[in-house]
This record gives sequence, structure tokens and C-alpha cells, in this order.
Amino acid sequence: MSEIATIIETYSRRMRIRLDTNIEVDARIKGKKIKAVCGDIVTIEPISGEKDWLITEIMKRSNELTRPNKSGQKEVLAANLDALIIVSSVSPIPDWYIIDRYICAAEILGIQPIIVFNKIDLLDENIKIDELLEYKKLGLSVVNFSVKNNKDSKELLSLISDKCSIVVGQSGVGKSSIINKLVYSSEQRVGSISKSGEGRHTTVNSVMKSIKSGGYLIDSPGVRDYMPALATPAEAQRGFREITEFSQFCRFSNCLHLREPKCAVKKAVEENLIDYRRYESYKRVVNLTSKLSEKKY
Ligand code: GDP
Ligand code: ZN
Repeated sequence: MSEIATIIETYSRRMRIRLDTNIEVDARIKGKKIKAVCGDIVTIEPISGEKDWLITEIMKRSNELTRPNKSGQKEVLAANLDALIIVSSVSPIPDWYIIDRYICAAEILGIQPIIVFNKIDLLDENIKIDELLEYKKLGLSVVNFSVKNNKDSKELLSLISDKCSIVVGQSGVGKSSIINKLVYSSEQRVGSISKSGEGRHTTVNSVMKSIKSGGYLIDSPGVRDYMPALATPAEAQRGFREITEFSQFCRFSNCLHLREPKCAVKKAVEENLIDYRRYESYKRVVNLTSKLSEKKY
């Protein structure tokens, strides 16, 4: 009799899986062809006389977060995500262009970007941050947070409860600390340099943990310097909702909003209807994607 389970951690061919009953067990994969990642829904069978289960099939994924590996091939980091939690902080100060790239990746994937601004205990309460205000204006979810301050969890929990989210962001912003605070076990090592696999090219080991109030968080060492791999430069605009909105009024349907005449996006930037910095950010993604695709061919 086969059952359904979710992959919550991978070690090469061996996996940790969560059964429907919420019990976690070990499993291994049948055959060499199946490649499962954290978040995958799989069918499993018991193996007689053994504690391990056997993974027989991976169900179709609703989405997958990928990145190019060193040899330029697509590497899947996690599957079946509902949200991308983008962590930034007071210190180290945010690189807003990187944050825009994460937002871009989430929008293209069709999952919700949630921007968490951590370590606000280090900040004067009345300070307003223009970039965060701009994100709010665009209708994106922005949450001020502090791992040290207990009253701040409620808003974030309301956004992530009962969802499966992956936590991304620059090093040192507090990803491990936030995960530790919200999930059951505390196996995470905060501030440790033991992320030894990161620099060298070992398999990325993502782990899914259960949030105390329901839902799951995925911790992945593969997302610390993330850049969405886009098929074409034209795809970039789908990652910037205000650019998508104005692009329908451009003279040319294939307008990239760079130097084309009668471009509604450039006009909107001139009239301050689109934030200039966000437009710059969009152009950087377009340029970077062009450069990467030149390399490929
Ligand atoms: P990661 O690299 O993003 O996983 O960041 P860590 O969770 O390892 O945190 C980096 C450092 O920031 C650690 O020394 C944490 O104790 C500290 N830190 C994390 N969250 C907060 C916070 O809300 N306030 C303050 N003051 N420090 C924090
Ligand atoms: Zn245009």
C-alpha cells in the first residue's frame, strides 16, 4: 500500500520525510533517475524488515525555486512553495537591489514575497525607511521584526501560518535566528560559520521545519546570493509589478522600456509614478540577464 509524504530534508540519496500523520521518518529513493528536493510531495511504500521507507514517485510540482549551478545547469533548491520570506536588517544594511531581485524571483514564480525588516531593536522607532514605504505602496507585504522583541511575531505569523515558505536573504541579517524563533526544534546554529558547504561546491542541503502556529519554513544555504535565472531579458518586467502595469500602454508590445520611443514605463518614471530606484533595479536585472544569455550562446 503506498502513501503520500513530503520531503523535509535531503542527504544525497537518503531523505527525511514527513508522513500525513506528521511523523518524520527516513526514506530512500527507488532508482537513480528520481531527484527529489525539499518540499516535494512523494508516494512511498514501506520496505519489509526495514525502518526506511521507499520513495517510488515524485508528484508534479506546482513550482520550483531554481538557481544555475557552477556549470550553468539548473539546480532545484525547493519545490511547492507558497511564499518567499525575504529577510533584510538594520545591520548589515540592506542592498535594495538584491531585495528587488528576490521580489522579482517570487513574482515570476507566482508566490508571495514577504519582506521582513529584522533587528528593529537597533533602530529609533520613528525612523521611516523610504525603500520599505515604496514596497508598501506597491502592495507588497513588509513586516518590521526583531528576534529580541517578543511582541513582533504576530504580524509575521499571520502572513506565514499554514503556508510553506522559504527564507532568503543576505548573510548575517538573522535568517537562522528568525527560523529558530518560529519553529519547534532549535537545531539551527546561529551565527556559526559551519556553513562549510557554501563556498565549496557540495550539494545544497535544504531543511523544512514546522512553524509552531502551523505551516513550514525552509532553510536553504543555496539562497544567500540569489539571482533569478530568467529565460530572456523580457521576462524581467514580470518581476516588477509597477512596470508590468504600465507596459500595456507602451507603443511596442515587445518594449523593454530602455530606449524605445513612446514607452509608457519611461514616461511614468519621468512623472514619478514609478520609483526611479526601482526602474534602475529593473534595468540592472535586464542587463544582467542579457550578459548571462550572451555567455550561454
Ligand atoms: P543569518 O546569517 O541570516 O542566518 O543570520 P543569523 O541568524 O546567524 O544572525 C546573525 C547575527 O545577528 C547573530 O549574531 C544574531 O544574534 C544577530 N541577530 C539576529 N536577529 C537579531 C535581532 O532581531 N536583533 C539584534 N540586535 N540582533 C539580531
Ligand atoms: Zn516601454
